[in-house]
Amino acid sequence: MTRKQQTIKEEFSLSGVGVHTGCQVHLTCQPAGENEGINFIRIDLPNKPVIKANLSNVCIDSKITRCTSLRSGDAIVHTVEHIMSVLCGLGIDNLNILLDAEEVPVLDGSGIDFFKAFQNVGIIEQNVEFQFYKIMEPIGVEHNGCAIYVFPSDQLKVSYSLDYKHPFLGSQFFNSIVDETVYEKEIVSCRTFCLEEEADELRKHGLGKGANYKNTLVVGEKGVKENQVRFPDEFARHKVLDLIGDLYLLGMPIRGHIFATKSGHDLNRRLLKKIYQQKKKYDKREERSNYDFNGKEMDIQGIMKVLPHRYPFLLVDRVIEIEKGKKAIGIKNVTMNDDFFRGHFPTRPVMPGVLMVEAMAQTAGVIILTNEKHRGKVSFFMAVNNVKFRKVVSPGDQLIMEVEIVKDKSRVSQAKAKAKVGQDVVAEADMTFSFTDASYLD
Ligand code: ZN
Repeated sequence: MTRKQQTIKEEFSLSGVGVHTGCQVHLTCQPAGENEGINFIRIDLPNKPVIKANLSNVCIDSKITRCTSLRSGDAIVHTVEHIMSVLCGLGIDNLNILLDAEEVPVLDGSGIDFFKAFQNVGIIEQNVEFQFYKIMEPIGVEHNGCAIYVFPSDQLKVSYSLDYKHPFLGSQFFNSIVDETVYEKEIVSCRTFCLEEEADELRKHGLGKGANYKNTLVVGEKGVKENQVRFPDEFARHKVLDLIGDLYLLGMPIRGHIFATKSGHDLNRRLLKKIYQQKKKYDKREERSNYDFNGKEMDIQGIMKVLPHRYPFLLVDRVIEIEKGKKAIGIKNVTMNDDFFRGHFPTRPVMPGVLMVEAMAQTAGVIILTNEKHRGKVSFFMAVNNVKFRKVVSPGDQLIMEVEIVKDKSRVSQAKAKAKVGQDVVAEADMTFSFTDASYLD
């Protein structure tokens, strides 16, 4: 199922207290444009810094470990997970969230007040297609007896188990597809909690300053203190709420079946990082598959889709006469602007011989990596034999790399290469390559 991106119809504000810092905060949500994503804006700081809700801004060294914090430069915002979860649950893709303090208000400890406020102002469709990431291969993270695994699935499904060695809490299991209806009925109203003994510990460390029995379920041996649960398994459900909010920092919702055991923000973050890496890998593949690799020639745009090399180390400008997977001719126009001439040598520019070998190897890389069976890989040198340098190459020369693949296995390839200037052979080499997954470079 696909839909357009969404934002809210009009702005609204609400106020409350930050559960960890105890700060009083006034929060305003404003519609944002297509592809702008979710942005927190600290209007109390000079220049009103914008903190984009994405993985690269996730703060890993925050003093407050029991929530998810984002940071951009010196600007920070704590406890973003509940509002992020609601945005994911409602399918809001673009939104500006203005705050006049460093923490999102906790409200009643769940996401219900945000949810109602968004529904109240209304959600509108925009003109651009919305995106989600479908998990392509199983990923998992484990740490200190906690684990999360996520498997490919066409819809979001969460199976969460919580296991406390605690007389009241015990073990709880929540298992459901998560669509907007389930999110609204089963998840959004579930509140944050902590054990009674943890509450004292948190206060000792100067945390939980805004917490009270109304906005945090404090769990004693006989039950919840001065409050009642909304569901018998409200605790597991709140963990699901948190998990959805943390994973929305990918920048788009995911489709996959998540199995989580006792996971919290730290592990959610580790999983998010792995999902991000997987997404990058598949995005690159898709980008590559949009390029026609079947031609007889490849320009620099195509070369850069195959090779990870960039300035000043991309030594092939164009590849011509490609016989797919077998042979090709690479061209490198050698100019005085090539970076290596600054030092090799200032008074007498000579192209280093090893860079001719590299240029031949990169041409070989283009031939090998455009082959379907090696897609998504990078090649590395394993051996270079029978290298000969026969003539000096100078600015103004056009280096022509004639490369033939003589062996092409799944793990190892071999090539014979000659570099020429005009009709003269200037260098030659026999080269052996091994492969690794391109995500190695991420
Ligand atoms: Zn929470």
